[in-house]
Amino acid sequence: VATHGPDDCIFCKIIRGELPSYKLLETEHAVAFLDGFPMREGHVLLVPKIHAPFITDLSPEDAAQSLKELPRVAQAVQKAYGAEGISVAQNNGAPAGQVVFHVHFHIFPREQGDGLLKWSQG
Ligand code: 5GP
Ligand code: ZN
Repeated sequence: VATHGPDDCIFCKIIRGELPSYKLLETEHAVAFLDGFPMREGHVLLVPKIHAPFITDLSPEDAAQSLKELPRVAQAVQKAYGAEGISVAQNNGAPAGQVVFHVHFHIFPREQGDGLLKWSQG
């Protein structure tokens, strides 16, 4: 798969502050911001600051440093959007619907019968 480096990566640009975003939280290792084309209101992305295209590129330490923020992000989504339910998803490769080749975790509110979690094929 053709990916690109940190210089022309959308999420690296957001992390460097070269593109705007609505940030929920930021640590030394990770950032969470609103999805620019949300599946629904409250769709948030948790993104490791390290530029890695796929989950398989992350070391256990890289993974832990961003995933430890997951409860805090989910709590913020629950509080801000009164989510009945919350899904967490992570796509790798075009067949899984990945379009941005910098690892990220989707966190989004769910409600009964919302019909979400239908990832498009790339
Ligand atoms: P993927 O399909 O790769 O798992 O998810 C990529 C996500 O990034 C999509 O949900 C898409 O809406 C979001 N996205 C794409 N470009 C931008 C952008 O420029 N800013 C923000 N905040 N989100 C983006
Ligand atoms: Zn990147």
